Amino acid sequence: MATAYLNCRIKDSDDTAFLVEGHLISRTGSDEEIRSLLREGDETVELSGMYVVPGFADTHMHLLGLGEYLSTLMLNHCTGSEEVLELTRKALPSLKEGQWLRGRGYHDNLQIDKASLDAISTDVPIVLTRACGHVACVNSKALELAGITEDTEAEEGDIDYANGIIKENALRLLKKAWKEPDEETLKEYIRKGAEYCNAHGITAVGSDDFVSFTSSYKPALKAFEHLAMENGMNLRVSEQCEFHDPEEFSRFLDEGYTAGVGSDAFVIGPLKLILDGSLGARTAAMTMPYSDDPDSCGILIYDDEEVETFFRLAQSYNMPVISHAIGDAALDQILDVYEQNMYEGNPLHNGLVHCQIMRKDQLKKILKLSLSCYIQTLFIDYDAGILEERVGERAKYSYPFATLYRNVPTANGSDAPVELPDPLKGIELAVTRKSLTSGRTMNASEAMTVKEALDSFTDRAYELLGMENCGKIRKGYFADFAVLSADPEETEPEKIHEIPVMMTVMDGRTVYER
Ligand SMILES: [Zn+2]
Repeated sequence: MATAYLNCRIKDSDDTAFLVEGHLISRTGSDEEIRSLLREGDETVELSGMYVVPGFADTHMHLLGLGEYLSTLMLNHCTGSEEVLELTRKALPSLKEGQWLRGRGYHDNLQIDKASLDAISTDVPIVLTRACGHVACVNSKALELAGITEDTEAEEGDIDYANGIIKENALRLLKKAWKEPDEETLKEYIRKGAEYCNAHGITAVGSDDFVSFTSSYKPALKAFEHLAMENGMNLRVSEQCEFHDPEEFSRFLDEGYTAGVGSDAFVIGPLKLILDGSLGARTAAMTMPYSDDPDSCGILIYDDEEVETFFRLAQSYNMPVISHAIGDAALDQILDVYEQNMYEGNPLHNGLVHCQIMRKDQLKKILKLSLSCYIQTLFIDYDAGILEERVGERAKYSYPFATLYRNVPTANGSDAPVELPDPLKGIELAVTRKSLTSGRTMNASEAMTVKEALDSFTDRAYELLGMENCGKIRKGYFADFAVLSADPEETEPEKIHEIPVMMTVMDGRTVYER
């Protein structure tokens, strides 16, 4: 049985209709041409002039983290400490015996500390994680169960015991104390995350999940593999593989895994390294102190030797490396490693995730090395409000998204659950560079065109993810697409985020309908 989608406008095409058979788009053409191919029992879907785009691809996120976030206490809408504490208090009665109260998503430097969480409960462990995921505030019970005392030393992280503030790798002490989610729970997170993505027109993601909340890469890997085998994936996933240390990575390679191993639904992607923290939490590693905190230069997670060990191991197995680098010191660290060890022309597509605070010389080097850049224009929404206070003059060459897009392989994403996935909002922010929340604009000379921004979530995103036969409405391509009620190129830029996604189809199946 085939399905004909009729009377639509198609991105980058003059056709008005297309035919889907099984997983694939089997023909495109005019309405009459496609109608003439229909046989008895075939279906037609009338799209009334709506705009069809290839399913959006979000090139960097944490799908398990997104699913978990959607299942726990969401604090992203909170505007003040009182609201965060009130929601936390209200969540307490719904917990099961022995369960931790975990929330995530607060943004601002709220007045939440150990004492304010202890006032809610000293019996139930409470962990509230900042939106960026690099800092958490905890109560006394959580510290006790995690075995953290005044004398605990934090390697590559920071513990403020008195105030219950835990940063970066010290967060692993907390994760160790949580009961690891079983496979059913992990699968449920994947399904929930995928459902949210589908509702926003997304049919593929680059996702970093291995160390999210398990002590080894295996539980997450198995949950994805099993779900893919059971045909339970409504999203194509390229796994951005993160490990606790080079030894764990080595064990993974010994099992026969490397980039490209997998199926159309779940495939092993690049090695992911997290080199520093976030701008919002002032843990991004800077060469000079923060403009609004002269005592802090942020945190580098690894020493140079470890980064090089990871890198060489990956390259010897033809596995690309993509590195989370937000501050200029983290960028210096990885650019040195790339410059000294990479093959010329970057044939393995090593890259950078985020590409935020940088100096002019670093931008030049990124272009010279032809690094793949995984950007998040959605970050402009929050960061436009804090960038200049945090880094002063250094804002000038930061978030240079148009320059990157026009010179090196660059595509877009959300880093969910840091921001909730929303390609249309991401497209708007790429174009306007103006925060919807604070109204502030960030370096408007780096604005992308609507066409570029759309491509950064479609064609270019699939190239970056290495997913073939995806990203176009064309014969022989996977039937992965989204139907929008309007063409973003014909919409006022400030209204692009309001365009409704009417339908999402993945692998020939309707996975979302408004
Ligand atoms: Zn991330």
